[in-house]
Amino acid sequence: MKRTPLKSRSKKETARVRRYQQARYIVAERSNGYCEANTPNCRGPLDQVHHRKGRDGDLVDDVDLLLGVCWSCHEYIHGHPLESYERGWMIRRNGE
Ligand SMILES: [Zn+2]
Repeated sequence: MKRTPLKSRSKKETARVRRYQQARYIVAERSNGYCEANTPNCRGPLDQVHHRKGRDGDLVDDVDLLLGVCWSCHEYIHGHPLESYERGWMIRRNGE
């Protein structure tokens, strides 16, 4: 879990969080409430938003880097990195 600092957010940080929340909302709309990964373990309904390039402390607001997933696919993706890179569920950070 990401730690939240106690001090209040700057305007820039607030804008960043808002863009992230909007991106998550767009993913939820795009997926129609269903998992977009469809791994062999898929359970159907959308539970979480997966970051295809990982989070690395950043709030990703590029919807192309976000994938709506069920919790089961989310586990599957992180448990099968090679397959996930192949299927595009994960993207390598340093080039293709
Ligand atoms: Zn799924």
